[in-house]
Amino acid sequence: MSTGKLTIDLSAIVANWHALDAMTDCETGAVVKANAYGLGAGEVAHALARAGARKFFVAVAEEGADVRKAVGTGPTIAVFSGHMEGDSDLIRDHDLTPMINSVDQMLRHVENTPRQGFGIQLDTGMNRLGIEPEEWAALRDIAIGQMPVLIMSHLACADEPDHPMNAKQLKLFNELTAGIDVPRSLAATGGILLGPDYHFDLTRPGIGLYGGLPYVDAQRVVALDLPVIQVRDLRPGETVGYGNAFTARRHTRIATVAAGYADGLIRAMGPNGWLYHGDTACPVAGRVSMDLITVDVTGLAHDPESLTILGPQQGVDDLAQAAGTIGYEILTSLGDRYERTYLK
Ligand SMILES: *Cc1c(COP(=O)(O)O)cnc(C)c1O
Repeated sequence: MSTGKLTIDLSAIVANWHALDAMTDCETGAVVKANAYGLGAGEVAHALARAGARKFFVAVAEEGADVRKAVGTGPTIAVFSGHMEGDSDLIRDHDLTPMINSVDQMLRHVENTPRQGFGIQLDTGMNRLGIEPEEWAALRDIAIGQMPVLIMSHLACADEPDHPMNAKQLKLFNELTAGIDVPRSLAATGGILLGPDYHFDLTRPGIGLYGGLPYVDAQRVVALDLPVIQVRDLRPGETVGYGNAFTARRHTRIATVAAGYADGLIRAMGPNGWLYHGDTACPVAGRVSMDLITVDVTGLAHDPESLTILGPQQGVDDLAQAAGTIGYEILTSLGDRYERTYLK
């Protein structure tokens, strides 16, 4: 068998959820959009629901339907994209709670699914999703009359604690929701770390659950081991892979592992990427191919049976840094070919 082994530690996700919950005095939700950041929305949502999570967030209604299967009736499943055309049946059939982003969505919701709960998403400056302050001024009383279950907004710069945008968005969120007796939510993972002013009634961590920055104290969640298919010797001057991108300067031993950019191990990690054998770091040699990565294992005493690309020595953010991206993108890119094991 030559597929990589992706191990997802559900107990670490649950531990991260409890630890983030302990940082606030309010309720802690869980963001499981994009298949729980690539780790499996069904498994993750099920584990978190068992641990006590009662508010789940997804990006689109279709994802909500899958999460509902995993958590059963009871927990709220909120949809960030709100109530889009064509969503009404999904929202009704799976008891989803759209976060309304516009007057049009509000009208669609009241008309098509009047008995279904909804929330309001306000734009406080990110200019991505949500009702604009001017629109809100006109809509506010009508919307509140329909009894939303949540009012939320999203921070643009929460991973930079000193960024003035944080305080600016906080102030506007407080102004837009003053005097309204509806539960409020502003903080994702970064917002939780900004402190109690940002917590309101419910937090919405995603990346922190999955072991990523900006939550530095997160437990590691994923491990990825790649089987070695072949090992070969190179004489000085011989080259490796597409474009001859690596040239042996000395006698070199090259291991070829079974994963590549089709598995989410993007080409950009080639020049600065490392795989590990125990504590020993082995550099990627040459370009990452679609299904294969070549690794310089000259430094190892024995030929390895597998090499670790995510594990104790290298987390998702280390790998992200090597590739010039963020942990979120590494996680959500993890491919379908891996043999996935869930640790409970
Ligand atoms: C993705 C997302 C979150 C979770 O963000 P993290 O940084 O992963 O914690 C929370 N709220 C909204 C609106 C989001 O889009």
